[in-house]
Amino acid sequence: MSDARLTSLGEGKGPIVLQGAMEMEVAPFIKRLKGAELEVYGDFFFWRGTFGTRPLIISQTGIGTAAAGAATALACALYQPSLIVNQGTAGGYGDLAVGDVVLASALYNANARYLGRDGLRFMELGSLEHESVAAMDFPDVPPLLETDERLRYILEAFLKKSGASYRTGIIASSDQWNEASEQIRRIREKTGALCEEMEAAAVWMTAKRFRVPCAFVRIISNNNERGLSFDPSVCEALYRLLKNFLM
Ligand code: SAH
Repeated sequence: MSDARLTSLGEGKGPIVLQGAMEMEVAPFIKRLKGAELEVYGDFFFWRGTFGTRPLIISQTGIGTAAAGAATALACALYQPSLIVNQGTAGGYGDLAVGDVVLASALYNANARYLGRDGLRFMELGSLEHESVAAMDFPDVPPLLETDERLRYILEAFLKKSGASYRTGIIASSDQWNEASEQIRRIREKTGALCEEMEAAAVWMTAKRFRVPCAFVRIISNNNERGLSFDPSVCEALYRLLKNFLM
Protein backbone atom coordinates (compact mmCIF):
# COMPACT_ATOMS: atom_id res chain seq x y z
CA MET A 1 0.00 0.00 0.00
CA SER A 2 0.89 3.68 -0.11
CA ASP A 3 1.70 3.45 3.60
CA ALA A 4 5.35 4.37 3.29
CA ARG A 5 4.57 7.65 1.60
CA LEU A 6 1.81 8.48 4.04
CA THR A 7 4.19 7.84 6.94
CA SER A 8 6.88 10.01 5.42
CA LEU A 9 4.38 12.83 5.02
CA GLY A 10 3.79 12.89 8.75
CA GLU A 11 7.32 12.06 9.83
CA GLY A 12 8.55 13.83 12.92
CA LYS A 13 5.38 15.87 13.05
CA GLY A 14 2.04 15.64 14.75
CA PRO A 15 -0.70 13.03 14.49
CA ILE A 16 -3.31 12.60 11.79
CA VAL A 17 -6.68 14.19 12.57
CA LEU A 18 -9.64 12.35 11.10
CA GLN A 19 -12.83 14.40 10.95
CA GLY A 20 -16.51 13.56 10.59
CA ALA A 21 -19.44 15.92 11.10
CA MET A 22 -22.00 13.56 12.59
CA GLU A 23 -21.83 10.88 15.25
CA MET A 24 -22.62 8.22 12.62
CA GLU A 25 -19.57 9.35 10.60
CA VAL A 26 -17.05 9.05 13.44
CA ALA A 27 -18.54 6.15 15.47
CA PRO A 28 -17.07 3.33 13.32
CA PHE A 29 -13.56 4.79 13.76
CA ILE A 30 -13.95 5.49 17.50
CA LYS A 31 -15.08 1.91 18.10
CA ARG A 32 -11.72 0.65 16.79
CA LEU A 33 -9.47 3.30 18.34
CA LYS A 34 -7.09 1.76 20.90
CA GLY A 35 -6.65 3.50 24.25
CA ALA A 36 -9.18 6.14 23.28
CA GLU A 37 -9.32 9.19 25.52
CA LEU A 38 -12.02 11.77 25.02
CA GLU A 39 -11.18 15.47 25.18
CA VAL A 40 -14.04 17.96 25.19
CA TYR A 41 -13.87 21.67 24.40
CA GLY A 42 -17.29 23.27 24.54
CA ASP A 43 -19.36 21.15 22.22
CA PHE A 44 -16.34 19.85 20.28
CA PHE A 45 -15.22 16.25 20.81
CA PHE A 46 -11.80 14.77 20.14
CA TRP A 47 -10.82 11.16 20.75
CA ARG A 48 -7.07 10.58 21.06
CA GLY A 49 -5.72 7.09 20.62
CA THR A 50 -3.90 4.66 18.38
CA PHE A 51 -5.25 3.26 15.15
CA GLY A 52 -3.21 0.31 13.95
CA THR A 53 0.21 1.56 14.94
CA ARG A 54 -0.39 5.27 14.41
CA PRO A 55 -1.47 7.97 16.79
CA LEU A 56 -4.83 9.21 15.56
CA ILE A 57 -7.16 11.94 16.70
CA ILE A 58 -10.80 11.62 15.74
CA SER A 59 -12.72 14.88 15.66
CA GLN A 60 -16.50 15.10 15.60
CA THR A 61 -16.83 18.54 14.06
CA GLY A 62 -20.58 19.04 14.05
CA ILE A 63 -22.55 19.91 10.92
CA GLY A 64 -21.94 22.95 8.76
CA THR A 65 -19.28 25.50 8.00
CA ALA A 66 -19.17 27.35 11.33
CA ALA A 67 -18.77 24.19 13.40
CA ALA A 68 -16.33 22.58 10.95
CA GLY A 69 -14.15 25.71 10.81
CA ALA A 70 -14.07 26.01 14.59
CA ALA A 71 -13.30 22.30 15.09
CA THR A 72 -10.48 22.55 12.55
CA ALA A 73 -8.95 25.59 14.26
CA LEU A 74 -9.12 23.80 17.61
CA ALA A 75 -7.53 20.65 16.16
CA CYS A 76 -4.70 22.60 14.53
CA ALA A 77 -3.95 24.64 17.64
CA LEU A 78 -4.28 21.80 20.15
CA TYR A 79 -2.63 18.92 18.32
CA GLN A 80 -0.44 20.41 15.54
CA PRO A 81 -1.51 17.64 13.14
CA SER A 82 0.67 16.60 10.22
CA LEU A 83 -2.46 16.26 8.14
CA ILE A 84 -6.25 16.24 8.29
CA VAL A 85 -8.50 13.69 6.63
CA ASN A 86 -12.01 15.07 6.30
CA GLN A 87 -14.46 12.27 5.54
CA GLY A 88 -18.17 11.55 5.66
CA THR A 89 -21.34 11.56 3.64
CA ALA A 90 -22.28 13.69 0.65
CA GLY A 91 -25.20 14.14 -1.70
CA GLY A 92 -24.30 12.88 -5.15
CA TYR A 93 -25.10 14.69 -8.39
CA GLY A 94 -25.71 13.22 -11.84
CA ASP A 95 -25.06 9.51 -12.15
CA LEU A 96 -23.32 9.05 -8.79
CA ALA A 97 -24.79 6.14 -6.88
CA VAL A 98 -25.22 5.67 -3.13
CA GLY A 99 -21.98 4.05 -1.93
CA ASP A 100 -19.74 5.66 -4.56
CA VAL A 101 -16.70 7.46 -3.16
CA VAL A 102 -15.56 10.95 -4.15
CA LEU A 103 -12.00 12.17 -3.66
CA ALA A 104 -11.84 15.96 -3.92
CA SER A 105 -9.44 17.40 -6.47
CA ALA A 106 -10.92 20.77 -5.52
CA LEU A 107 -13.77 22.26 -3.56
CA TYR A 108 -15.74 25.42 -3.89
CA ASN A 109 -17.44 27.49 -1.26
CA ALA A 110 -21.02 27.75 -2.48
CA ASN A 111 -21.77 30.16 0.41
CA ALA A 112 -19.46 32.84 -0.96
CA ARG A 113 -21.90 34.58 -3.27
CA TYR A 114 -21.92 38.06 -4.71
CA LEU A 115 -25.25 39.25 -6.01
CA GLY A 116 -24.32 41.98 -8.45
CA ARG A 117 -26.59 44.10 -10.57
CA ASP A 118 -25.86 41.71 -13.45
CA GLY A 119 -26.65 38.56 -11.49
CA LEU A 120 -25.03 35.95 -9.27
CA ARG A 121 -21.25 35.73 -9.00
CA PHE A 122 -18.88 33.88 -6.69
CA MET A 123 -16.16 35.07 -4.35
CA GLU A 124 -12.86 33.63 -3.18
CA LEU A 125 -12.98 34.94 0.38
CA GLY A 126 -9.25 34.51 1.04
CA SER A 127 -8.27 36.89 -1.75
CA LEU A 128 -10.67 39.57 -0.51
CA GLU A 129 -8.56 40.09 2.62
CA HIS A 130 -5.87 41.56 0.41
CA GLU A 131 -8.34 43.87 -1.19
CA SER A 132 -7.57 44.94 -4.71
CA VAL A 133 -9.51 45.77 -7.82
CA ALA A 134 -8.62 42.33 -9.21
CA ALA A 135 -10.09 40.58 -6.15
CA MET A 136 -13.40 42.35 -6.75
CA ASP A 137 -13.62 41.02 -10.28
CA PHE A 138 -15.92 38.16 -9.37
CA PRO A 139 -16.30 35.21 -11.72
CA ASP A 140 -19.69 33.70 -12.55
CA VAL A 141 -18.44 30.19 -11.79
CA PRO A 142 -17.17 29.48 -8.26
CA PRO A 143 -13.38 29.77 -7.83
CA LEU A 144 -11.87 26.40 -7.00
CA LEU A 145 -10.04 25.63 -3.76
CA GLU A 146 -7.45 23.08 -4.90
CA THR A 147 -6.70 20.24 -2.50
CA ASP A 148 -3.19 19.22 -1.41
CA GLU A 149 -1.53 17.55 -4.38
CA ARG A 150 0.64 15.06 -2.51
CA LEU A 151 -2.17 13.80 -0.30
CA ARG A 152 -4.49 13.54 -3.27
CA TYR A 153 -1.90 11.53 -5.17
CA ILE A 154 -1.46 9.08 -2.29
CA LEU A 155 -5.20 8.68 -1.77
CA GLU A 156 -5.86 8.29 -5.47
CA ALA A 157 -3.30 5.46 -5.65
CA PHE A 158 -4.88 3.86 -2.59
CA LEU A 159 -8.43 4.10 -3.96
CA LYS A 160 -7.38 2.71 -7.32
CA LYS A 161 -5.79 -0.29 -5.65
CA SER A 162 -8.75 -0.85 -3.29
CA GLY A 163 -11.14 -1.57 -6.16
CA ALA A 164 -13.68 0.88 -4.70
CA SER A 165 -16.05 2.67 -7.04
CA TYR A 166 -14.67 6.19 -6.82
CA ARG A 167 -14.39 9.44 -8.75
CA THR A 168 -11.94 12.28 -8.34
CA GLY A 169 -13.38 15.75 -8.86
CA ILE A 170 -15.03 18.85 -7.49
CA ILE A 171 -17.09 19.00 -4.29
CA ALA A 172 -19.61 21.80 -3.69
CA SER A 173 -19.50 22.87 -0.06
CA SER A 174 -21.83 25.19 1.86
CA ASP A 175 -24.59 25.42 4.47
CA GLN A 176 -27.10 24.18 1.93
CA TRP A 177 -29.04 21.03 1.28
CA ASN A 178 -30.38 20.90 -2.25
CA GLU A 179 -33.37 18.67 -2.84
CA ALA A 180 -34.72 20.15 -6.09
CA SER A 181 -33.57 17.99 -8.96
CA GLU A 182 -33.71 20.69 -11.65
CA GLN A 183 -31.72 23.12 -9.48
CA ILE A 184 -29.08 20.43 -8.84
CA ARG A 185 -28.78 19.75 -12.56
CA ARG A 186 -28.12 23.45 -13.19
CA ILE A 187 -25.47 23.57 -10.45
CA ARG A 188 -23.80 20.44 -11.83
CA GLU A 189 -23.73 21.73 -15.39
CA LYS A 190 -22.39 25.12 -14.36
CA THR A 191 -19.73 23.98 -11.89
CA GLY A 192 -18.87 20.39 -12.77
CA ALA A 193 -19.38 19.39 -9.11
CA LEU A 194 -19.78 15.67 -8.40
CA CYS A 195 -21.51 16.09 -5.04
CA GLU A 196 -22.37 18.49 -2.21
CA GLU A 197 -21.72 18.54 1.51
CA MET A 198 -21.47 21.10 4.30
CA GLU A 199 -18.00 21.15 5.86
CA ALA A 200 -15.13 20.66 3.42
CA ALA A 201 -14.63 24.27 2.24
CA ALA A 202 -14.62 25.56 5.82
CA VAL A 203 -12.05 22.93 6.80
CA TRP A 204 -9.92 23.81 3.76
CA MET A 205 -10.00 27.56 4.51
CA THR A 206 -9.23 27.10 8.21
CA ALA A 207 -6.47 24.51 7.81
CA LYS A 208 -4.81 26.73 5.21
CA ARG A 209 -4.31 29.39 7.89
CA PHE A 210 -2.37 26.80 9.91
CA ARG A 211 -0.60 25.40 6.85
CA VAL A 212 -1.92 21.92 7.58
CA PRO A 213 -2.55 19.79 4.46
CA CYS A 214 -5.99 18.19 4.12
CA ALA A 215 -7.59 15.43 2.11
CA PHE A 216 -11.33 15.18 1.51
CA VAL A 217 -12.97 11.81 0.95
CA ARG A 218 -16.73 11.52 0.84
CA ILE A 219 -19.14 8.66 0.30
CA ILE A 220 -22.42 9.27 -1.49
CA SER A 221 -25.28 8.77 0.98
CA ASN A 222 -28.04 10.19 -1.20
CA ASN A 223 -28.60 11.60 -4.67
CA ASN A 224 -31.36 14.16 -4.68
CA GLU A 225 -31.04 14.76 -8.40
CA ARG A 226 -32.09 11.13 -8.88
CA GLY A 227 -34.41 10.94 -5.86
CA LEU A 228 -32.20 8.56 -3.83
CA SER A 229 -32.70 9.23 -0.12
CA PHE A 230 -30.11 9.28 2.69
CA ASP A 231 -28.64 5.88 3.58
CA PRO A 232 -26.66 6.04 6.86
CA SER A 233 -25.12 2.59 6.31
CA VAL A 234 -22.58 4.12 3.93
CA CYS A 235 -20.67 5.48 6.96
CA GLU A 236 -19.57 1.97 7.91
CA ALA A 237 -18.64 1.26 4.27
CA LEU A 238 -16.40 4.33 4.19
CA TYR A 239 -14.81 3.24 7.46
CA ARG A 240 -14.03 -0.20 5.99
CA LEU A 241 -12.35 1.48 3.04
CA LEU A 242 -10.41 4.15 4.93
CA LYS A 243 -9.19 1.95 7.78
CA ASN A 244 -6.61 0.41 5.46
CA PHE A 245 -5.42 3.84 4.52
CA LEU A 246 -5.06 5.03 8.10
CA MET A 247 -3.36 1.95 9.58
N1 SAH B 1 -28.77 12.95 9.18
C1 SAH B 1 -29.49 13.51 8.07
C2 SAH B 1 -28.63 13.91 6.90
C3 SAH B 1 -27.37 14.64 7.20
S1 SAH B 1 -27.54 16.34 7.31
C4 SAH B 1 -30.54 12.53 7.61
O1 SAH B 1 -30.73 11.53 8.27
O2 SAH B 1 -31.16 12.77 6.58
C5 SAH B 1 -26.17 16.98 6.52
C6 SAH B 1 -24.84 16.34 6.75
O3 SAH B 1 -24.63 15.32 5.81
C7 SAH B 1 -23.71 17.33 6.58
O4 SAH B 1 -22.69 17.03 7.49
C8 SAH B 1 -23.27 17.14 5.14
O5 SAH B 1 -21.87 17.28 4.97
C9 SAH B 1 -23.74 15.75 4.76
N2 SAH B 1 -24.57 15.63 3.56
C10 SAH B 1 -24.99 14.42 3.09
N3 SAH B 1 -25.76 14.59 2.01
C11 SAH B 1 -25.87 15.91 1.77
C12 SAH B 1 -26.56 16.70 0.79
N4 SAH B 1 -27.32 16.15 -0.16
N5 SAH B 1 -26.44 18.05 0.85
C13 SAH B 1 -25.71 18.62 1.81
N6 SAH B 1 -25.05 17.92 2.77
C14 SAH B 1 -25.11 16.59 2.76
